[in-house]
Amino acid sequence: ERALPRYSVAMLRITELKLPLHHADEELTAAIRNRLRITPRDLVRFSIARRAHDARIKSDIQLVYSVDVTLRNEAPVLARFKKDRHVQPTPNTAYKFVAQAPADYSGPRPVVIGTGPCGLFAGLILAQMGYKPIIVDRGKVVRERTKDTWGLWRRSVLNPESNVQFGEGGAGTFSDGKLYSRIKDPRHLDRKVLIEFVKAGAPPEILTEAHPHIGTFRLVTMVESMRATIEALGGEYRFETRVDGIDVATAADGMRKVRGLHLHTGDYLEAEQVVLAVGHSARDTFAMLHDKGVYLEAKPFSIGVRIEHPQSWIDDARFGPNAGNPILGAADYALSHHAKNGRTAYSFCMCPGGTVVAATSEEGRVATNGMSQYSRNERNANSGLVVGIDPARDYPGDPLAGIALQRHWESRAFVAGGSTYAAPAQLLGDFLAGRASTKLASVVPSYKPGVHMTDLAECLPEFAVTAMREALVQFGREIPGYDHPDAVLTGVETRTSSPLRITRGDDFQSLNTAGLFPAGEGAGYAGGILSAAVDGIKVAEAVARAMSA
Ligand code: FAD
Repeated sequence: ERALPRYSVAMLRITELKLPLHHADEELTAAIRNRLRITPRDLVRFSIARRAHDARIKSDIQLVYSVDVTLRNEAPVLARFKKDRHVQPTPNTAYKFVAQAPADYSGPRPVVIGTGPCGLFAGLILAQMGYKPIIVDRGKVVRERTKDTWGLWRRSVLNPESNVQFGEGGAGTFSDGKLYSRIKDPRHLDRKVLIEFVKAGAPPEILTEAHPHIGTFRLVTMVESMRATIEALGGEYRFETRVDGIDVATAADGMRKVRGLHLHTGDYLEAEQVVLAVGHSARDTFAMLHDKGVYLEAKPFSIGVRIEHPQSWIDDARFGPNAGNPILGAADYALSHHAKNGRTAYSFCMCPGGTVVAATSEEGRVATNGMSQYSRNERNANSGLVVGIDPARDYPGDPLAGIALQRHWESRAFVAGGSTYAAPAQLLGDFLAGRASTKLASVVPSYKPGVHMTDLAECLPEFAVTAMREALVQFGREIPGYDHPDAVLTGVETRTSSPLRITRGDDFQSLNTAGLFPAGEGAGYAGGILSAAVDGIKVAEAVARAMSA
C-alpha cells in the first residue's frame, strides 16, 4: 500500500510513553532508549504510531505516544519485556483480501445501495476484489449535492432527495469528520479505512492522531477521489437513482431470495447480491422493506438538542493555561449522567470549533446536527445533549414506531421554529427555569437558516427534558461554564442513530431474505463514519464469499 508508513514493518511497539506537552524531538528518542534500556547504537529508527494527550492536570498536560521501534537486535529486548504489556511486537495491520475475482470477471455484479461511508467502502473493496459493483444513490453527485444542502442553510429551500442526509458521501459528508469509534476491531480494518482516506486526500496525521478528524471541506474531494478509484476498477455509479422496491422470490420451501431492485425511474435492476447501506434517514426505504416482509426490529436511539458554547470556554475549562496551544487544537469533551428518572443523558457527536447544521431530509420537519472544518476555528463548540430511549418503554409494538416518534418531534420542532426551517432555540438559563426565551444573550448560535427563540420543552418528551435539566447542572460541575445561562440550545436532535435494525445472520445476510446484506448505520450495525466504513468492508467480504461459494 503506497500510504502505508514504514513503521508497519517495525518489530516492537511501545505504548503509554508520556512526555511533557512542550518536549523537544530528542526527548522522545531519549525516552524510547530509556524505556527499553538500550544504547543509541541499538536504536535503528522509530516512528509514531499514535499520539494522544492526557489533560487531567491542566498545568502539566502530557503527550502520550505509541511508537514503533526497529532495533538492531530486538529479540533480547522483547524477551526482557515479555510480561510488560506496553512493550510488545508491533501488530500486523496490513489488509488482506478474502477473495479475488478472475481478471476477466463478467459474472453477476453485486449492487450497493448508498454511497455513504458504508456503501463507499463496500463498493471499494468489491471493486478492489474485481467484482465490478454497481453503486446506486438516490441523491446527487457530491458537488451538486453541496449546492442543494446549502440551499436549505442559506435560502430555507429543502430538496428531499439531495441534502445533508442523501447524496454522494452520505450523512457524514457535511460533518466534523471525526474518525474514531469504540468498535472491537481485532483485524484492524479501521487501518484499511484510514489508509484509503489518506490515499483519497485526507491529512496523513489521521493515521497517528488518537482522535483524528477531517472536516467537511476535504471530505467532499475525498469522496470524488474514491469514486474515480472505484470507476477505474470497473465499478459503476448511478446517482439520482432511488431504490423504491425489492423483488424477492420465494421458493417452494419458503426460502426468500433477492432477484432484483425496482428503481424510481421505473427501471428494473437484476441483482442477486445487494448491499443495503441506506443510512438512518431512509425512512421510506425502511417502510418499503417492512412491506416486503424483510425482517426488521425496533432498536434504541437517543433524542435531545444541540448545545453551543464559545469554544474558548471549553478550551479554558479543559486545558487551563495551555488553552489555544496548536498541538492540542480545539478542546472536546464527552459527558454522561444517569438521571434520577432512570434516563441517561449524554453528549453526542461533539464538534469543536464548528457549526450547528440543519439536518432534515423531510419537508415540514427540523432536525439538528453538527459539523466543522478541518481547522475547527469557528467561534462555538457544539454537541448533541441527548437522552437514550428504547422501544420497550418509549415506542413499543411496530418496528417502524421509532420513525413515527422521530417524525412527531421533528414536526413539533418545525412549528416551534416558526415553520420556516429555523430551529427552535432557548437559552440554557431559561430551559432550566422552565420559561420560554425571547432573545439571545452573549452566545451567538451558528444554526442556519436561523433560530427562533421559544420553549424547547414543547419539542421533547417530558422525561427527556427532566433528565437534560439534571445533566446540565452536573455537566457544569465537570466543565465550568457548561451550564452558563447564556449557552444556547437548538432542537431537535433526533437522528443520533437508526431507530431500527435490519437484522442479519452470521453470513451478514438478512435473517429472512438471502442475498440482502443490511449494512452500516441504517441497518443498525454502525454509528459514525469509521464504524460504518469498517462495516462496509466486512459486508463486502461476506458478499465476495457468497459469490465465490
Ligand atoms: P449514510 O452515510 O447515511 O449513507 C446512506 C446513503 O444511502 C445516502 O447517500 C443516501 O442518499 C442513500 N440512500 C438512502 N436510501 C436510498 C435508496 N432508497 N436508494 C438509493 N440510495 C439511498 N459521524 C462521525 O463518525 N463523525 C462525525 O463527525 C459525524 N458528523 C456528522 C455530522 C452530520 C451533519 C451528520 C448528518 C452525521 C454525522 N456523523 C458523523 C454520522 C455519520 O455521518 C454516519 O454515521 C455515517 O454517514 C453512516 O454511514 P452509512 O454509510 O451507514 O449511511
